[in-house]
Amino acid sequence: MTKVVTRFAPSPTGHLHIGGARTAIFNWLLARHFGGTFLLRIEDTDQERSLQEYTDSILASMRWLGLDWDGDLIYQSRRFDIYNGYIDRMLETGHAYWCECTPEEVEQMRETARERGLKPKYDGRCRERGLGPGPGRVVRLKAPLDGRVVFEDVVKGTLAFDAAELDDMVLRRSDGTPTYNMAVVVDDATMGVTHVLRGDDHVSNTPKQVLIYQALGLPLPVFGHVPMILGPDKKKLSKRHGARAVIEYEQDGLLPQALVNYLVRLGWSFGDQEIFALQELVEKFTTDNLNSAPAAFDPDKLQWLN
Ligand code: GLU
Repeated sequence: MTKVVTRFAPSPTGHLHIGGARTAIFNWLLARHFGGTFLLRIEDTDQERSLQEYTDSILASMRWLGLDWDGDLIYQSRRFDIYNGYIDRMLETGHAYWCECTPEEVEQMRETARERGLKPKYDGRCRERGLGPGPGRVVRLKAPLDGRVVFEDVVKGTLAFDAAELDDMVLRRSDGTPTYNMAVVVDDATMGVTHVLRGDDHVSNTPKQVLIYQALGLPLPVFGHVPMILGPDKKKLSKRHGARAVIEYEQDGLLPQALVNYLVRLGWSFGDQEIFALQELVEKFTTDNLNSAPAAFDPDKLQWLN
């Protein structure tokens, strides 16, 4: 069997919250269960919103939770040349093209599509023009015009999307920086990531990423999109539900093992058992028991654990 490689890939735009912490724990457990590798990658391509203080805070929370990572910490902002190398390769193989349409023109195309009741997207007018690089130009994926984009999800089953619904997405912005989905695919593929477990708020990114994998001729990892944690009112979890950043639970004196146990159980179950020692979780955790129904957060329960 190939060695399992997982990763946690936070964007350093805030402290580590419990949803992110749960994703990190699942990926860590899967890697440790199979004696594999767990990578930690800081997704700081958005250089305006990414702050070093948040990276430091996320790392501190990871350490406090007992989630050790393998190898060096990876910063996407230091890998732009690698991403651009792959974009060049896609241009050479005809899977990508230069586009000179301005953001205003693209917005106009979207508006026109909306008016016709169609999915708002770039209309592909530069696809066959054979343009080269130039000021203000972006590189776009030459996405398939029809067919289905299909992938297996260990939590949700087989997921299929209409290719026609997907855009010729931008891979390289006009300032030369790679876009988020491009960077994620290059990283996951070149780092040998075998399993991508993440929140299902990312499920709409996955077909786009699948198209990039296919354009690069790279094998897909196993995907698993876990349902978001909800508030007791079944709405998206937020501060008003009493959910807090991991660092705040630490400051309150909660035991990290209690938080790990509580978060794992909000998305994974093993019979009726409620309390697990960390080593027991490592022994028992596989993706088979990830729940496909969302769980609700109960702040009182954490209070009790305190
Ligand atoms: N950087 C993304 C986030 O913080 C994670 C993306 C992924 O796991 O693929 O939500």
